[in-house]
Amino acid sequence: MTYFRPNINAMVGYAPGEQPQLGTQVIKLNTNENPYPPAPVALQVLREMDGELLRRYPDSMAEEFRQAASHVLGFPPDWMLVGNGSDELLNLIVRACVAPSQKVVYPTPTYILYRTLAQMQPAQVIEVDYDENYTLPIEQLIAAKGAVTFIASPNSPPGNAVPVAALHQLAAQLSGVLVIDEAYVDFAEANALELVKAYDNVIVLRTLSKGYSLAGLRLGFGIAQPSLLEGLIKVKDSYNVDAIACKVGAAAVLDQAHKIKNAEQVKSSRAKLTTDLKRLGFLVYPSQANFLLVQPPRKNAEKLYQLLKNQGILVRYFQQPRLEDKLRITVGTEEQNQILVKSLTQLLSKA
Ligand SMILES: *Cc1c(COP(=O)(O)O)cnc(C)c1O
Repeated sequence: MTYFRPNINAMVGYAPGEQPQLGTQVIKLNTNENPYPPAPVALQVLREMDGELLRRYPDSMAEEFRQAASHVLGFPPDWMLVGNGSDELLNLIVRACVAPSQKVVYPTPTYILYRTLAQMQPAQVIEVDYDENYTLPIEQLIAAKGAVTFIASPNSPPGNAVPVAALHQLAAQLSGVLVIDEAYVDFAEANALELVKAYDNVIVLRTLSKGYSLAGLRLGFGIAQPSLLEGLIKVKDSYNVDAIACKVGAAAVLDQAHKIKNAEQVKSSRAKLTTDLKRLGFLVYPSQANFLLVQPPRKNAEKLYQLLKNQGILVRYFQQPRLEDKLRITVGTEEQNQILVKSLTQLLSKA
């Protein structure tokens, strides 16, 4: 006896990374949070929150945040849709754009939520493999004819960024919607915002979870032409962004200097950690995000994951094709990275 639709029974739910209790003595390098605190101005806004703002329903379009993001990115407010994390926007896009018999297409390995959302719909899932060099398989993606095509750039877990020229080519030839998920853009060298002006089928997604150190706030936004946002607005909850997230997020996004300073630190630590891990014999994939995908010298990734966990260091292990011999390690503070490298040095010499 079950009360669920057949596709819900058949699917595996999305499994988020472990979140130990606050105060637990762990070095948490498993869910790509920013190791540095949010902007002080944003925390100040949080402390001074007016109770009247909570008594009322929030603005249904999170207007204060939209204005702030519009000011920073130079797109009009009505080219932006704000969500409860960019995960909500991914959800809205599948709900609004993919009919049951249609396809959701994406290159793999990538963010597992794309598959989860497609299976919930249910939609047909078409996964196209990246090659070893992570060249975008443009022809195959076009041939798959997705109602929606997802490209994470920088991508997780590999960390590869897709060249903007390749995204142009894809956008121009796709029949459906192209979603460019830029969750890690703050650590990358380029972004694809210019595509939004050129193509009415492109939506670029951003989040405050990674670059702005606000994963707990749950705030993300999409940038697209108003005609593409129209259908998503019909599908969303009327009050999908709470008053606190809207106001704190606006303050955070206006403090670009704080975000840039932290991102520069993360990028410099990423380079150093890359060198240290290579010295230990790891294969390290080039990354434009705040994490590294690495293959341990003996390919005993699952074992190493467990041994690190026993020492209070959490990294991410994926039981998935092409990833079962690899670990995804979030770049932490200099101190955290050093403890990690020290532990790995000991573990490898023992093994
Ligand atoms: C973290 C992440 C997101 C989700 O961001 P939220 O705004 O926290 O929901 C989306 N896409 C990718 C690829 C991510 O890694």
